[in-house]
Amino acid sequence: MPESKTLPASLDAVIVGAGFGGMYMLHRLRGLGLTARILEAADGVGGTWYWNRYPGARCDVESMQYSFSFDEALQQEWQWSERFAAQPEILRYANHVADRFDLRRDIHFETKVASATYDEAADRWTVTTDKGEVVSARFCVMATGCLSAARLPDIAGIDDFKGETYHTGWWPHEKVDFTGKRVAVIGTGSSAIQAIPVIAEEAAQVTVFQRTPNFSIPSRNAPMDAEYERWWKDDYRSKRLQARMMRTGILYDINPQSAVEASEAERQAEYERRWANGGTAFMGAYHDLILNKASNDTAAEFVRSKIRQMVKDPETAEALAPKDHPIGTKRICVDTNYYETYNRPNVRLVNLRKTPIETITATGIRTSAESLDFDAIVFATGFDAMTGALLKIDFEGRGGTRLSQVWEHGPRSYLGLQVAGFPNLFTITGPGSPSVLSNMIVSIEQHVDWITGLLSHMQARGLTCVEATEAAQEDWVAHGEEVANRTLYPTAASWYMGANIPGKPRVFMPYIGGVGAYRERCDEIAARGYEGFRLA
Ligand code: FAD
Repeated sequence: MPESKTLPASLDAVIVGAGFGGMYMLHRLRGLGLTARILEAADGVGGTWYWNRYPGARCDVESMQYSFSFDEALQQEWQWSERFAAQPEILRYANHVADRFDLRRDIHFETKVASATYDEAADRWTVTTDKGEVVSARFCVMATGCLSAARLPDIAGIDDFKGETYHTGWWPHEKVDFTGKRVAVIGTGSSAIQAIPVIAEEAAQVTVFQRTPNFSIPSRNAPMDAEYERWWKDDYRSKRLQARMMRTGILYDINPQSAVEASEAERQAEYERRWANGGTAFMGAYHDLILNKASNDTAAEFVRSKIRQMVKDPETAEALAPKDHPIGTKRICVDTNYYETYNRPNVRLVNLRKTPIETITATGIRTSAESLDFDAIVFATGFDAMTGALLKIDFEGRGGTRLSQVWEHGPRSYLGLQVAGFPNLFTITGPGSPSVLSNMIVSIEQHVDWITGLLSHMQARGLTCVEATEAAQEDWVAHGEEVANRTLYPTAASWYMGANIPGKPRVFMPYIGGVGAYRERCDEIAARGYEGFRLA
């Protein structure tokens, strides 16, 4: 148990969240000589990797890239054991970072922020926790995470079930033993795709309830190759610089050719090669896979054909083969044995498009076709992404304006960093920035470094207030929409669009212009004296 500390009455900065974003922000604010504390709801650091302890939880960005680059000694000394790190190892890494930079003394665990109110006269924020503690701070940095507000589905009878229930995003700390149990998994997004093969090895029966199938690429995960690790570490600095300028913040080869310009034989060879290498680099097979439907169709059909080859039962294979969205327009999944798992005798797929769930009962789940009994239900039903954790906090900005009002029709921000009307409030990887479309650690570092640069600029000039202008925000929102509409992304009912939450506005929330282009834009804005921000 972390020791409890008393919150100071006044600070230069409050940071909310002790995932990678919050931890790095604290480190940089200390470097500016500011007094800062992190308020964190959990009893440990790590954010995503603290909460998502489900079996099979793993990163889809290679370990050598999904790590901090800000400290050369840190990136040289840490050794990853696998090509794609599993959750326990990433959590150990987060704890190592916290210890190495002595961050814990400024983190208040089990402290959930309920509201934040801007006091115009004092030009300060009053932050209140759910236990009624109050702290006043000049700056507020939200490092609350884009995938941290886990969500249960609206299914009738959800509270009636008498067996065990789990959500992948709130997994218990102790091992859950499914041996001999009949397990239902609801959902087939990234978390389910990782968890199902592992649960199926242990449970007596696994029944998967699928509404929408997702595309998944095999990870080809393996123990870390010493030579590959050396290749990275010998030249980490320049490789990281290159990664920062890539569209996704991940260094991999993107074929500059268009898929439709290649011959059928060339395409097959390219897709086969990438399928064999594994991971999300599959989407780099042609530069226009997310731009051109005809190009996209070739990749989507390749993956569907793989599914049909891997899954023996033709009806199950057809149900698993996505046809309602272009590949990559919903978060592409990366798996180990996902499709093959459906060939096991103890695994069954229920296609909710044909037989929807009517209700959860005391003993199981009833669909329009049958009643099934279970010992445990696993909800792999995702998150209220990007805006969920922010809107759980009652923000009151200038003139009593609430963030929930400003975002009623979808999030609006300048660069995903600030919202007009909310001075001195920053959002790390907020909506309007590349965020969830990228290697998140690259995007976190870029945001934290940029905010640090801005605060240092303000310190040097004796300035205390920064606020995005309404005009800059409107231009940025319009630009974000325009860039998104040039791609296939808005055609999918994805969580990027808010489509997984009934009633959530359908707006494409992240910025699709690319991590490299976005970084350049942010740097240009800084070089022009923070154009679009009002400084006082
Ligand atoms: P988080 O890690 O989400 O941390 C936010 C913290 O804020 C949490 O600890 C939360 O408890 C706290 N918090 C929120 N609200 C409050 C409040 N009101 N008061 C106090 N505390 C609060 N990204 C990738 O780049 N590659 C991947 O392969 C990848 N895989 C993922 C797999 C899963 C299952 C999930 C859920 C996410 C994955 N992500 C991945 C995204 C991942 O969230 C980021 O990579 C990164 O960990 C985000 O760090 P963060 O600090 O911004 O937010």
